[in-house]
Amino acid sequence: MTGTTSTALQDGKDSNTIMPATRERWVHNPKTKWQFDIDVVGTCNLRCPSCPVGNLSEARTSEKYMRPEMLDRIMAKATSECRVYGVYLYNWTEPFLHPNLPEMIRVVRSYGVPCGLSTNLNLITNIDGIMEANPSMLKVSLSGFTQEVYGKTHRRGDIELVKQNMAEVARAKQRAGSTTRLVIAYHRYLGNHEDEALMQAYAQSLGFEFEPAWSYLMPLEKMLAFTDSDAIDVEINAEDQKTIDSLALPLSDAVKASKNAPHQPCPLRAQQMAITATGDVMLCCTAFDQSKYKIGSFLDTPLSELQEQRYRHSLCGSCMKNGLHVFFTYGSDQLDEIALKHIAKHYPDAKLKGVKEVMNKDRPTGIKAIPYKLKRECRRILVKLGALS
Ligand code: SF4
Ligand code: SF4
Repeated sequence: MTGTTSTALQDGKDSNTIMPATRERWVHNPKTKWQFDIDVVGTCNLRCPSCPVGNLSEARTSEKYMRPEMLDRIMAKATSECRVYGVYLYNWTEPFLHPNLPEMIRVVRSYGVPCGLSTNLNLITNIDGIMEANPSMLKVSLSGFTQEVYGKTHRRGDIELVKQNMAEVARAKQRAGSTTRLVIAYHRYLGNHEDEALMQAYAQSLGFEFEPAWSYLMPLEKMLAFTDSDAIDVEINAEDQKTIDSLALPLSDAVKASKNAPHQPCPLRAQQMAITATGDVMLCCTAFDQSKYKIGSFLDTPLSELQEQRYRHSLCGSCMKNGLHVFFTYGSDQLDEIALKHIAKHYPDAKLKGVKEVMNKDRPTGIKAIPYKLKRECRRILVKLGALS
């Protein structure tokens, strides 16, 4: 499939709001701030049903882990080819499984680049070493406070262990004097709002920031199957349907709103790069099957060539046609409203705020995050004025 043109968009019937992927071209802009999502191991210890590790087991991943020398070469090449704004040492995997995570963090930081981690925190090995390496952010993803709630959506996970480990992380941060931002990403499903309040109180008592997020069904392959796209040979099975029914953000309405959103380029393609533990570039961070959506070796291929291949990829056409690139990046302003209405229908007493509202809270600097719509409008004006490509 790699390198072919978009068949899904060639008929143009459905492309009044979406620019066909084939007509958008990659143009190098030295000012673009790039984010790299690098899996440093090939697997995860949990099997969450909303994640490809749990729902797409037939798509094999590598059991290998990345060595510091390879990460060093990736960082050297990346920083020579583009402006690297942040490196996250995870995409579909659990970075705490890496045998020498502190060294990996140090490699990224030696290039003056912030390094973020996300973990399910069911295991902590060498947490003192990790905190001494001082990553810029350590995010813990979870979905409940009690095992009954958490265990449904974090399959194989143990929330009591996670809670103990959260306290240990907070102590290790103090021991190391690290400046790492500790964050809880609370995945919202229908019916886990009572646990949310308990987890928020517990997390904040330990010094974690608290950021709720609407749970999705991932990866791209499953979402394309959900939209009935014929670009993919993956199916929605009974277990996926159960996951879909449990989401606080109802997929049909969310995809419809994303499809109807004004045209917008895909930031995951324009300024983000997903790299596997074996050093291969994936089409994007939302695609999972390495046997189908691998673009090429990052170290052996110039960035411009990788980008040209990504911009020609047929799956981008199918994804954009269905508005999935908007959905994946919270690019529609309606998503919060849709989810809150859906929750209110099932749980009228649930008092939740939209995730955008929480994300736009005052930051330590006193600056609020700029709403996506405003950012898009500013960009449009700057492009019109010729200040940006
Ligand atoms: S969602 Fe996270 S914790 Fe769960 S299986 Fe996927 S990578 Fe592992
Ligand atoms: S989100 Fe969709 S459009 Fe964006 S890079 Fe991935 S497949 Fe392509």
